[in-house]
Amino acid sequence: MITFDAVTKRYPDGFVAVDNLSLEAETGRITVLVGPSGCGKTTTLRMINRMIDASEGQILLDGADVKKIDPPTLRRGIGYVIQQAGLFPHRKIVDNVATVPYLLGWDKKKARDRAMELLERVGLDPKLAQRYPFQLSGGQQQRVGVARALAADPPVLLMDEPFSAVDPIVRTSLQDELLRLQSELNKTIVFVTHDIDEAIKLGDRVAVLRVGGKLAQFAAPKTLLSEPADDFVREFLGKDRGIRRLSFVSTEHLRLRTDLVVSSSSPGTAAASDGLLMVVSEDGRPVGWQGRDEPFGTYVHGKDSLRAALDAALLSPSGQAVAVDAEGKVVGIATREALDEALAEAADG
Ligand code: ADP
Ligand code: MG
Repeated sequence: MITFDAVTKRYPDGFVAVDNLSLEAETGRITVLVGPSGCGKTTTLRMINRMIDASEGQILLDGADVKKIDPPTLRRGIGYVIQQAGLFPHRKIVDNVATVPYLLGWDKKKARDRAMELLERVGLDPKLAQRYPFQLSGGQQQRVGVARALAADPPVLLMDEPFSAVDPIVRTSLQDELLRLQSELNKTIVFVTHDIDEAIKLGDRVAVLRVGGKLAQFAAPKTLLSEPADDFVREFLGKDRGIRRLSFVSTEHLRLRTDLVVSSSSPGTAAASDGLLMVVSEDGRPVGWQGRDEPFGTYVHGKDSLRAALDAALLSPSGQAVAVDAEGKVVGIATREALDEALAEAADG
């Protein structure tokens, strides 16, 4: 666990970049620092590995004051990833990833084996290992940056806007990859971004900072969306806060109609008066709306969110979503009526 206890950073010119910050980044979780440019995110992050020293207050790493740990020792246990990956241009990818193991004096073979293993872990083709950074795309370079930070298996990972410089599609895949990696590695991650959507997607807990380095709110994403602490947080979250909150509402209790599901071998005789009929194949998979050559959307019932179910419903002409199980077999139809009901409940809750 990383604990900030009343931490203030005053730069030599007197500027207060971080003001009396207290928060805890839990072990094995992703804590996101989010806020507008200049609000002190980078300063906060760098105080953890002592690239910047706090002026007042304490930062504890598993209870130990970081000021009492000498920086090289401290940094051995802390991986650091920055926006432009920060790779050494004249070193091959494999040697970039092995940077820290080399510094730690691992033998060359062991360090390189580890690097190759990590390249695969972050979703890169091992063939890229022999290339130089300029021969990789921006997204690939970021993956290398993540692999390098993980090389010595540090328990803590600091990430400063690591995905901000890549295009939105690549960014989404990097985010997904990070979540997948984290589900295997359970690092203590402090992740900085100015993008609230990224914060909400990645964070187990999110600290919203305002300019002047003041903590506006520290909460789980779901709580931020449902109970923003003040106008600043509300505005920062944006106007579609209501819709995004539905990403955290379960479909478990969404009412399903099974009478609107018919098998391809025995099609329904009468069209249902209150919804289209979904035809399923013999193995239970959705085929299409009976008699209508129009698209349909599916969501995984009980696993996907209400937002996903609504997205699915928007794809179909009748506003119905097709509920499937983890194997893709149809378990029922969420009608517009059922979705309305669930929405009303979510608004109350
Ligand atoms: P963020 O990462 O949220 O954009 P930073 O932590 O980089 O913000 O900076 C916070 C504030 O501190 C900014 O206003 C910045 O100009 C100021 N700042 C950063 N470094 C210094 C410095 N060395 N001396 C004076 N002010 C600084
Ligand atoms: Mg910054």
